[in-house]
Amino acid sequence: MYKSLLLSINVLSASMLWAQSPPQPKLSVHWEELSAAEFKDGIARAQGTCLLPFGIMEKHGPHLPLGNDLLNVRYVALNAAQQEYAIVFPEYYFGQIFEAKHEPGTVAYSRGLQLQLLQETTDEMARNGCKKIIIVNGHGGNNSLLPFFAQSQLETPHDYVVYVQSIARSGAGEPKHKTNRATDMHAGESETSVSMIARPDLVHLDRAPQESGADQARLKLPEDLYTGIWWYARFPNHYAGEGAAASRELGEFEAKTWIATIVQSIKAVKADQESLQLQNQFYEQSKHPLQTPQ
Ligand SMILES: [Zn+2]
Repeated sequence: MYKSLLLSINVLSASMLWAQSPPQPKLSVHWEELSAAEFKDGIARAQGTCLLPFGIMEKHGPHLPLGNDLLNVRYVALNAAQQEYAIVFPEYYFGQIFEAKHEPGTVAYSRGLQLQLLQETTDEMARNGCKKIIIVNGHGGNNSLLPFFAQSQLETPHDYVVYVQSIARSGAGEPKHKTNRATDMHAGESETSVSMIARPDLVHLDRAPQESGADQARLKLPEDLYTGIWWYARFPNHYAGEGAAASRELGEFEAKTWIATIVQSIKAVKADQESLQLQNQFYEQSKHPLQTPQ
């Protein structure tokens, strides 16, 4: 009896010691803020999971900054990584934005360079231990580029997995929007609301009505027939929606929803043991397709 009591006291104090063991040292989630030794610890803590928030430099109506997508996507990605540890790659804004080349301040790299730079960036991330890379997209103009980039990882073997997290601002219980959500596509109510949370100092709501963000519907084509000039045909001011309708209330909800979605994705990616294994199986089989069982 006495002995077992002593044993349970020992077990208890050991578990208390365990509970009291010093908390893990604080590690920044910013790649560029870590020392080389801290980076090594960060990769271990992140289980090789890294985020690549992807913005752009483009006009955002008359009331938002050129780097709006970069600022917003970094705000949500950094907040998510602080909740569920992951290393966040520095500022990246080298995406698809040809449709805004007629507006001041747009930085539109060539098609080949966009893909090459992104490939070399993820290759370099992986060489440094980021074996699971979540590209967190913050720019609608990348919506075709990024899934294509992920698909093209099957072209040649890679020892890492690329995941793409799309923009995820809305969710259940969302405050009622004041404007038509079908045309609230760029610098409108929803996006401007998130900017009011991420960088309120750069939002000039009073300027939002200076231009029209209305759909000018200048092309009459069937819905499933695509052409690249569609965006300019509809929104020549590179503005779609009504930024003036934005509110902090909607912004808080949408930023929180987006952050929570990224947190869930980081957790899912950390738990994912299948993708890399299946990729390797695929690469191996694709070397000799005639031996693939039919
Ligand atoms: Zn934007």
